[in-house]
Amino acid sequence: MNQYDVTVIGSGPGGYVAAIRCAQLGLKTALIEKYDTLGGTCLNVGCIPSKALLDSTEHYHNAHSTFKEHGIELNDLRVNMPQMNDRKNGVVKANTDGIVYLMKKNKIDVIHGMGSFVDKTHIKIVPTNGGEEQQIETKNVIIASGSKPTVLPFISQDKERIITSTEALNIREVPKSFVVIGGGVIGLEMASIYARLGSEVTVIEYTDALVPTMDGSIGKEMKRVLGKIGIKFMLGHKVTGATREGDVVTVTATSPKGEEVKVEGDYCLVAVGRSPYTAGLNLEAAGIEMEERGRIKVDAHLQTNVPGIYAIGDVVRGAMLAHKAEEEGVFVAETIVGQKPHINYLLIPGVVYTWPEAAGVGYTEEQLKEEGRAYKTGNFPFRASGRARASGDLDGFVKVLADKTTDEILGVHMVGPRIADLIAEAVTAMEFRASAEDVARMSHAHPTYAEAMKEACLAATENRAIHM
Ligand code: FAD
Repeated sequence: MNQYDVTVIGSGPGGYVAAIRCAQLGLKTALIEKYDTLGGTCLNVGCIPSKALLDSTEHYHNAHSTFKEHGIELNDLRVNMPQMNDRKNGVVKANTDGIVYLMKKNKIDVIHGMGSFVDKTHIKIVPTNGGEEQQIETKNVIIASGSKPTVLPFISQDKERIITSTEALNIREVPKSFVVIGGGVIGLEMASIYARLGSEVTVIEYTDALVPTMDGSIGKEMKRVLGKIGIKFMLGHKVTGATREGDVVTVTATSPKGEEVKVEGDYCLVAVGRSPYTAGLNLEAAGIEMEERGRIKVDAHLQTNVPGIYAIGDVVRGAMLAHKAEEEGVFVAETIVGQKPHINYLLIPGVVYTWPEAAGVGYTEEQLKEEGRAYKTGNFPFRASGRARASGDLDGFVKVLADKTTDEILGVHMVGPRIADLIAEAVTAMEFRASAEDVARMSHAHPTYAEAMKEACLAATENRAIHM
């Protein structure tokens, strides 16, 4: 029987990163993945294919709607969905092949098959497409089994017309109409993809705000700017059912006034969140405790109640984000060898890859109000940025929240062009506990979108923004 220092179950961004860090630290490491390709949700059916389609559809949208203003005229503009999807599949393959290469480079044993606990130190692997099962012995286990789309119990998803994000990333024609249940990150990204292609898109959201976990200013701006590409929003609507007849799906919902409303679409995407995935792991055999909502219970070191067994990523508490899973993978590997790593969960940024993009890090204004913390705000709109005027991306803003007394930056929230990258500046500043004035006094190249961060910090300091 093969013996390992560490066995990682699941090859998503949590698992494969954990495996690489373990190998870097000299631990003999196995990585178990039930699917044929490595990379988990993120690389196969999440972050990467969604961004590939977002980029392709953004090109189409621009060619269709903004090129003319730039003095570029095109005739005979068409969408070739099979080609768009093939390109997306190629992007996914390049990324998943990259993980295979990294596993080889780091001498990590990859075992394909469903992994399950025999006991605390033995894992059984049953190949998913036939083949012999095997058992391995291991000193430590890192569970990184991820998540799956949450289902609404009153909606039967046929995965053809009533679909999850996985199927929504594989539609081979442009739907005439597309209904999205859920105005969170995944819902808005998918809504953007199809609205840009010309589908009539309706987003139905239960709460009265889009992306309700982010700063309230983001949801409001997203509603306004995504409305401009034709997305219709039904906020405060409680979906009560979705049925399919032929190729038409009818979604029923209760409006804020208590009236029943119906929306029809060619497709209905259910995007109401994701749930931790632990099916088939046989956690009971190792005596691993669970907590609410199907998550594996872990302590501050991401260790389960069983010494030597850890869990990371979407299967444990916290934001369901790839970069959070990655940080946790590194954290656990370093913990296993006796190092003292640290993760600042407050500074895990959240991003929505619509256009304009949205991003936030740190406290939201709502949280600061709830805590009764004295804060000040600095805002800078992109319409006042020279760079944004040049590219024609005038929507959005950067909002900086800083402590009223110390000026320490407490939160940064943005909607605007390329701010998925710009949020990194906010994270860096906050990791070093910068004051708004610290950032305001740093030189930012001109003309760049990043100047909006400097200007918002100037505005937060003593209302000293220069270009506003
Ligand atoms: P996963 O990536 O879910 O990987 C878990 C792996 O474990 C899977 O491959 C699974 O097959 C395997 N597995 C499970 N059980 C077993 C078992 N018993 N034996 C063997 N293998 C097993 N996050 C971002 O940060 N940025 C984004 O832009 C972004 N976009 C997204 C878009 C979509 C459409 C979706 C659905 C998600 C997106 N996410 C994004 C979320 C991101 O994909 C997840 O947070 C991330 O993949 C979680 O990583 P993980 O390692 O915890 O689990």
